[in-house]
Amino acid sequence: MSKSRILGTQILETIGLGNVSGRNKMLGNRLTAWLTLGLVLIVPQVQAAVTLQGKLEQGALMRGQATAGTQISLNGEAIKVTPDGHFAFGFDRDGELSQQLTLVYPDGLTEVKPLTLAKREYDIQSVKGISSKIMKPDPVAQERAAKDTAQVKAARATFSEQTAFLQAFIWPLTGRISGVYGSQRIYNDVPGNPHFGVDVAAKTGTVVVAPADGVISLSVPDMFYSGGTMVIDHGYGVSSSFLHLSKLYVNAGEAVKQGQAVAEVGATGRANGPHLDWRVNWYQMRLDPTTIVPPMATVLANEKASKAAKKG
Ligand SMILES: [Zn+2]
Repeated sequence: MSKSRILGTQILETIGLGNVSGRNKMLGNRLTAWLTLGLVLIVPQVQAAVTLQGKLEQGALMRGQATAGTQISLNGEAIKVTPDGHFAFGFDRDGELSQQLTLVYPDGLTEVKPLTLAKREYDIQSVKGISSKIMKPDPVAQERAAKDTAQVKAARATFSEQTAFLQAFIWPLTGRISGVYGSQRIYNDVPGNPHFGVDVAAKTGTVVVAPADGVISLSVPDMFYSGGTMVIDHGYGVSSSFLHLSKLYVNAGEAVKQGQAVAEVGATGRANGPHLDWRVNWYQMRLDPTTIVPPMATVLANEKASKAAKKG
């Protein structure tokens, strides 16, 4: 597909708008002059540019940069953009495979960028013959859990102007992956909530580090389902959450640096065994943390190699 051809069409539209307002008229005249000189294709290449970084698939966190001052919307909803043109957004676990990013550049040019996502296959298991007693929720527990959920939701709704979300994220700890994003169990034909984190198995007490800089937006030792729970705000709606922690080193409001020890692995709340459940959100949208870090196998291999090098 020819980008210049699309932009060429948009330039004509801009010229059409040139009669409406003084600013656009000036732009129109300028473009007309350039058109006359046959230089028009240089214009969009210089002024209208966007780059996207991320996997075009369900569950992915995307990061991008456009010309400073560009207004951006995803499927018609405005996205907040940093003063120098950086932004983030996500694709839902079961998000539409055809989405649209619209960019209105500072010079008035509009670019509509269709995004075609790859469909993900999730690990779905059917579990039958569970007694109805177990299935029945306990009202006291439910009330507690609802309060916890509201608190976590509020933390994830945080908007801050930090730009830590642009960093290259690191794993908060390394080890065997024992649970993946998107997996789901169907109990007696009733679908349970999908698992939205990536689980890394580790002993209770293993140190967990911040995957990127941020500010702690929630630090609670004893939530009903998630036990010791921490949320780190990385800015512009991007957050990390850690569940089932045995110890929390930092309190809400504290700033943390990438790689800083913030907590310890545990099996608190409802957990089968000690592990870290790491989640990444874009506001309330639950994303797959593995879309923004190198594959665990690669990281483990590098760790092994650097250990061997130290010994040698
Ligand atoms: Zn988990």
